[in-house]
Amino acid sequence: MAICPKCKEEIEHLNNYVSGEAKYIFDGESYNQDGDFQNNEKVNDYECPECQEVLFTDEEKAKEFLKNKDELTNIMEEKMKQIKENKNVS
Ligand SMILES: [Zn+2]
Repeated sequence: MAICPKCKEEIEHLNNYVSGEAKYIFDGESYNQDGDFQNNEKVNDYECPECQEVLFTDEEKAKEFLKNKDELTNIMEEKMKQIKENKNVS
């Protein structure tokens, strides 16, 4: 199970929000979806289902995150990122 870096909860999936257009046939009473949803790629957010924070905006990173079941690796990566960011600041 992956650990959310924001709320530290164990999560099995991410909520993916995408923007785009869906076509419906509206006959005055009901809607019937016609064809596939067309993603316009303006929004593609992968959010934690526990804290609703956007963790990724890129499928590859989201995939990697969910595949990564080793908590220690996540912590190490987070630390490495912090060290790198601190170096950039100073
Ligand atoms: Zn979270």
